[in-house]
Amino acid sequence: MAALRTEVGGLIDIIARGVLALSLRNGSSSTIPPYPDETQYALDMVVLACLHEGGTTPPAGVPELIRWCTDLTSRAWSFLAMAEPSLAVPRLVHPEHRTQTRTCAELAGLAQVADDLLKGISVDVSPKEANERRRFVESQVLIGPETHRALLMRAPRLVLVLKSVRDLYLSVPEEWVVRGMTALCPSCGLLALPGFPDDRRMAWCESEVCPPGLRIDRSYPSATSLVLHPALRLFHSLPARSEERLSREPVLTKLGMRPVEHTGSRYRVDMPGGEERIFRVYDRVEPTLLARDAVADQVEVAVVPSGSRAVQPGFREAFADALPDGTQVDLVTDDVLTTYLTNDQKDR
Ligand SMILES: [Zn+2]
Repeated sequence: MAALRTEVGGLIDIIARGVLALSLRNGSSSTIPPYPDETQYALDMVVLACLHEGGTTPPAGVPELIRWCTDLTSRAWSFLAMAEPSLAVPRLVHPEHRTQTRTCAELAGLAQVADDLLKGISVDVSPKEANERRRFVESQVLIGPETHRALLMRAPRLVLVLKSVRDLYLSVPEEWVVRGMTALCPSCGLLALPGFPDDRRMAWCESEVCPPGLRIDRSYPSATSLVLHPALRLFHSLPARSEERLSREPVLTKLGMRPVEHTGSRYRVDMPGGEERIFRVYDRVEPTLLARDAVADQVEVAVVPSGSRAVQPGFREAFADALPDGTQVDLVTDDVLTTYLTNDQKDR
């Protein structure tokens, strides 16, 4: 099975990229060929793996492969356990809503795509302008038919900012369209699906953690709306709320929280005692991939929102186990960080 691994990742990464490519395809149903190259490649590799392992009938085509991706613990995937012995991924596609999961996005490498996209809009502009563009995309998940006019009324300058980042907005994927409309989650602000118990309330949202039943207060005609690139929605809009909250905390202002570089998401802070630490706010579901990215980002502290998956049992242990020998990255929630720093300041 070693032959199934490539220089850019294992079989599961290839399948995740295939699923995402299908979702990113504009203007046609995900079940109709021709499929994106990444999707076809994923199917070919799965077929090859089934034939190599024997005993498993390969998926007949892309629609069946996507159905398989709703449950990676099923017997159909027995060959995957051999190819990826350390894998513990339940699904890449939600079985009911048919949306790709956050695990899928993380395995497909969208975190790096998100950072690259942000760097792309920061080239040859002042740090102030780069920051303005970044704040805009992080807060504006969807552009509806009224957005341009609303910005003109509220802050005309933002119309220019929108123009400079418009390429980061794409057609709404079909899995997020219900009766011609696309909704935003009232809690996390990412894409939402209505239906629990009716279309006025939310059944599911992209962050996967907001409770169903919340009243939907923002819904837009899908055909005339554009949504922010999924990489930026999941890897910047989502943690941005926690990041903003931290930046407003008096104790962090006092300790001098400041960006390391104007295009990045890392911050410096002078810890009690004068020692400088570099941190970044992450909102992730896969601890091993978070550990890998935190090491690549060269942060000393990975801060996670207190309501995120990172507080679930086993996450911290899996994160620590995935760090390379001799590497130290602290994993703390935003609440714990501010409480610790505030108490420390009181004691002084
Ligand atoms: Zn939500």
